[in-house]
Amino acid sequence: MNQDWNAQWRQQALPRLATQPWDLIVIGGGISGAGILREAARRGWRCLLLEQRDFAWGTSSRSSKMVHGGLRYIAKGQWRLTRDSVRERQRLLQEAPGLVEPMGFLMPHYRGQFPGPRVFGGLLSLYDALAGRRNHRFHDAGQLPFLVPGVKTPGLLGGTCFLDALTDDARLVLRVLAEARADGALALNGVRVTGLLREEGRVCGVEIDDSEGGAPRQLRCSVLAVATGAWAERLRPADAGRQLRPLRGSHLLLPGWRLPVAHALSFMHAEDRRPVFVFPWEGATVVGTTDLDHHEDLDLSASISQQELHYLLAACAQQFPEARIVAGDVLSTWAGVRPVVAAGGADSQGKPSNETREHVLWQEPGCVTLAGGKLTTFRPQAIEVLAACGAMIGRSVSDDGAPVFAPVPAVDIPGLSGAQLRRLAGRHGRDLPRLAQLVEQLGHECVGASDTLWAELAFAAEAEMVLHLDDLLLRRTRLGLLLAEGGASYLPAIRNLCQERLGWSDAHWQAEEQRYLALWQRHHSLPRTDA
Ligand SMILES: Cc1cc2nc3c(=O)[nH]c(=O)nc-3n(C[C@H](O)[C@H](O)[C@H](O)COP(=O)(O)OP(=O)(O)OC[C@H]3O[C@@H](n4cnc5c(N)ncnc54)[C@H](O)[C@@H]3O)c2cc1C
Repeated sequence: MNQDWNAQWRQQALPRLATQPWDLIVIGGGISGAGILREAARRGWRCLLLEQRDFAWGTSSRSSKMVHGGLRYIAKGQWRLTRDSVRERQRLLQEAPGLVEPMGFLMPHYRGQFPGPRVFGGLLSLYDALAGRRNHRFHDAGQLPFLVPGVKTPGLLGGTCFLDALTDDARLVLRVLAEARADGALALNGVRVTGLLREEGRVCGVEIDDSEGGAPRQLRCSVLAVATGAWAERLRPADAGRQLRPLRGSHLLLPGWRLPVAHALSFMHAEDRRPVFVFPWEGATVVGTTDLDHHEDLDLSASISQQELHYLLAACAQQFPEARIVAGDVLSTWAGVRPVVAAGGADSQGKPSNETREHVLWQEPGCVTLAGGKLTTFRPQAIEVLAACGAMIGRSVSDDGAPVFAPVPAVDIPGLSGAQLRRLAGRHGRDLPRLAQLVEQLGHECVGASDTLWAELAFAAEAEMVLHLDDLLLRRTRLGLLLAEGGASYLPAIRNLCQERLGWSDAHWQAEEQRYLALWQRHHSLPRTDA
């Protein structure tokens, strides 16, 4: 049943779901849900994940893509979060090379401005102590412009370099799901949970709606894990005083040549003294992020506002004045909503950046909800949720430290560089041999100036549960962000390669293309001037 993970498989799997006795149903196909499913499947639980839109459709494809300890958490005394994050970063670097890669971060220091080299070095020593290795170095003002060409130099004292990591967040979710599926779990997208079933005061299942037109159904389970991120309060009210405060963070993506950086530069925005970043990702340059209350409808994808665009352009002007980056340089944008547990309830008036990023569990008989959390710490969060679920059904769960990812099969793909092979192995894991066959068939050309092979698109269309064109272009691959105008000029070639593999008619493809381009304009281009 787990062989061809595509729309046909989904059609056959859906009617059978109600006939199976599930130990665990997980709601939400972001990194939290994927992590819980992975840990449950590894322990032999019969488990199922349901995602209302697409895997990683929520915040887990719209993060800043850092697998990091979070220096600012240490500065705020959030020790547990920093310690877990640093440990998980080390683990992911080791387990998933090519998907989670080390990245040098640089904090420049300016005369009379916080943080100075001493304070920052002290903070990093604590950070290093948590990671168990020294990992930072000071570069003087003479060296720094070589490390970050174009960086503002008046008043520059130097900069401190430290190591963290970057990932492709949506591919991380896909890979974790692939591991869970390999251990027997099922994961379906396009399935919305519309309500919880209760019997004698205990949650015992869910009511579902198939967004692709199937009949509503009821599914039963021994225990339910709700991992719906910013939507956590939709299915179950928050515990008193622990409501979610949805906070939006937006990013700009610039062509790599327009603002070339080899390291991630972290600096304080002059407007509000918040840390912001400029970093290289997939051959392009990311500028992020913002942190403000998100009052829009959560059922719509979040979008960057004019105010955020100006804030991020001002960050570029502040730190790279000669580059003269303007809105017209922007390739694409994305915005995500942080599922942050508010210190003072949902109507908390504190500064968004002061809210803790620690997660909490809300529990009722038969149901555990994860609220808050981070991409980096998905594994310990998942184990905590599973332990709480296990306690409700008499199963003991502890962190045995087992790897999330199975070793990637050794495959040589002639014609690809070592770096390309590493990237493919990281992103596709146990599916690498099948991808290698497609590379052999289709060649090793990349799409435009991106690092994505045409063969990756073909593989996704065949076996990565693509229901809509945006699944393919925004999450299985990131071409919709990396190519100009969402890759519009490549759509005919993408259609040639993928339409048949997806089993779509001409009319179906055309409808998907229109839908995708409209969605891209609304949520990934520059904001409307009245936004
Ligand atoms: C701007 C920004 C930058 C960030 N940067 C970082 C970073 O660099 N590093 C880091 O570690 N963390 C970062 N984070 C935090 C991290 O991205 C999130 O904590 C994480 O992605 C949340 O994952 P999740 O699975 O809990 O939620 P989501 O990814 O939002 O997944 C929840 C899923 O549940 C689904 N769902 C909701 N309701 C239903 C329903 N009724 N039925 C079925 N499915 C449903 C949604 O469609 C969604 O896909 C960032 C967050 C933001 C917003």
